[in-house]
Amino acid sequence: MGFIETIIERNETFARDGFSASLKIIPSAKTIVVGCLDPRVDPLDVLGLEPGEAATFRNIGGRINPALVETMILLPTVAMAAGQMMGPSWNLVILHHTDCGIIGCYRHAPDLLAKHLGVTRKQLECMEVTDPYKAVAMDVAAWRANQDIPGEFTISGIVYDVNSGRIKVVIPPAMLRQTSDSA
Ligand SMILES: [Zn+2]
Repeated sequence: MGFIETIIERNETFARDGFSASLKIIPSAKTIVVGCLDPRVDPLDVLGLEPGEAATFRNIGGRINPALVETMILLPTVAMAAGQMMGPSWNLVILHHTDCGIIGCYRHAPDLLAKHLGVTRKQLECMEVTDPYKAVAMDVAAWRANQDIPGEFTISGIVYDVNSGRIKVVIPPAMLRQTSDSA
C-alpha cells in the first residue's frame, strides 16, 4: 500500500474518532508559531500543542523572510474577519532548532538562500545561519525592528535541541514593541 492510501485510511479514522467541528479559525491559545519544516520539529509534537491551539508557519529554519512578514501583516485581517482583534494576549513564538537543514542550504546554495531570506549575499554572512541560538535572537530583533508588523503581541525565541528533545527559551516573552502609550 502506498503512503497516500495509508493517509486516506488514517483520515477515515480521524474523521470518525478525532474530528471536532467546534474548532475555530482563531487559535484557541492565541498563538502563532514560526518554525522549521524539518519533520523532527513539528511544533504540534515538540510543544505538545492540542488541535486548534496555535497557527503554525513553517519554512526552512523558521527564519524571518519577506513571505513570512507578508503573512503576519495579513493575519490581523483574518482575525478581524472572524470577529477578533489580535492584541496583547497573542503570542508569536519563534522556534529554531539544532542541526537545521538551513546550514546545508547556506553551504551549498547561498545565493538561493539569500534570495529566500530577502537579503544580499553579504548580509547572509551576518545572519548566524549556523548557530540557532544566535539566529533566533537575531530574528526576534528583526521582528521587533520591522515597523510593518502590528506590534500588539508578545514575542519569544526558542531553540529545540534535536538530540535531547528539550527546548531552551533564548528570548523570554515580551511585547514586540512598546506602544506609544506605554513608552
Ligand atoms: Zn530546520
